[in-house]
Amino acid sequence: MKEKIEKIRKDFPILATQVNKKPLVYFDNAATTQKPSIVIDTITEYYSKYNANIHRGIHFLSNFVTDASEKARETVREFINADTVEEIIFTSGTTESINLVAFSFGETFIVKDDEIIISEMEHHSNIVPWQMLCERKDAILRVLPFNDAGELEIDKLSELINPKTKIVAVAHVSNALGTINPIKKIIKIAHKSNIPVLIDGAQAAQHIKVDVKELDCDFYAFSGHKSYGPTGTGILYGKKDILEKMTPYKGGGEMIAKVSFEKTTYNALPFKFEAGTPNYIDSIALAKALDYITELGLDNICKYETELLEYATRELKKIDNLKIIGEAEHKSSVISFIIDGIHPSDAGTLLDQMGIAIRTGTHCAEPVMQHFGISGTLRASFAFYNTFEEVDYFVKSLNYIIPILK
Ligand code: PLP
Repeated sequence: MKEKIEKIRKDFPILATQVNKKPLVYFDNAATTQKPSIVIDTITEYYSKYNANIHRGIHFLSNFVTDASEKARETVREFINADTVEEIIFTSGTTESINLVAFSFGETFIVKDDEIIISEMEHHSNIVPWQMLCERKDAILRVLPFNDAGELEIDKLSELINPKTKIVAVAHVSNALGTINPIKKIIKIAHKSNIPVLIDGAQAAQHIKVDVKELDCDFYAFSGHKSYGPTGTGILYGKKDILEKMTPYKGGGEMIAKVSFEKTTYNALPFKFEAGTPNYIDSIALAKALDYITELGLDNICKYETELLEYATRELKKIDNLKIIGEAEHKSSVISFIIDGIHPSDAGTLLDQMGIAIRTGTHCAEPVMQHFGISGTLRASFAFYNTFEEVDYFVKSLNYIIPILK
């Protein structure tokens, strides 16, 4: 993999650009990843040659692009090893996928005093939709804590579960800490009490091989744009038997079987959850991104990114007064850290001057910051196109700016 990186980088045009007259070092991959030419070209090609609204068209273009978008759904199915394409719903991102479940599952299954379990390390996208549901239904949100290493206190899960618990929703990988959570264990524990589990895979599907059948999760949400696909794309996987029972999320065209003023019946899966004209060209381009990942091999990606993470962690630890936030045993390629006496955004601004893109702040995970009593962190997040040389430049740049900011 290491030898292939230079070739891989050529597939991503933006990586050859400069920022502030310095070669771009893009370490903000947890926010969104860059796009390979195959994704960019697919979008141009489809708008240039094949655009027409999908489904029920009788003309060539409509049929052609309908076919392509349904093939894209099959690519996603294969990517996460779902049973059937009926279980794959195109959304605009992880946020929409989770909101869909919180609304539709909530409307169908949650009543007053029911309980929902999330964890202390969730992104706001896996907190707020559940809080909104709790407000609507007078239900209760329970929170599984994590320890100071950034690992979930998994033994406390059984204590939180009771007959009122209706769903557990946890991140596969924390975007603020990098922790890879033991989701298989969590799913097993919840299933012992027949409680369905939603996994927020926004930071996982592009780094770790996900097999929804093997995991036996009930829902799995992830973002297309964090997986080298276009912005405005995301996926919700749901087990067919649960999705079938859930009330639709949004009403409109596509999601109906028959409409009259007296009564409307709903379309079959997955269309029941895809109201309106879908983002079909971006879905087709997303499938190209997933094919790209598959061709590189998630095992190879994971191995390379882990080496990069371990190297960067070792090198960052050599910097005086730098503290890594989140030192779980199992981590994905995210490093959050603080530097004594330096505000993260000041450091981020100076790094930007050196062409380095990292993220600073709370990373939409304010409860994580509250746990550590900090206002925010600097976060470097890696993708397979990042290099050891870029890590060296990053560390050198930090060593250069720290005395300036002290
Ligand atoms: N969940 C996690 C763990 C995330 O990191 C993010 C985005 O950073 C989201 C959910 C939201 O994803 P999106 O912005 O694609 O909806």
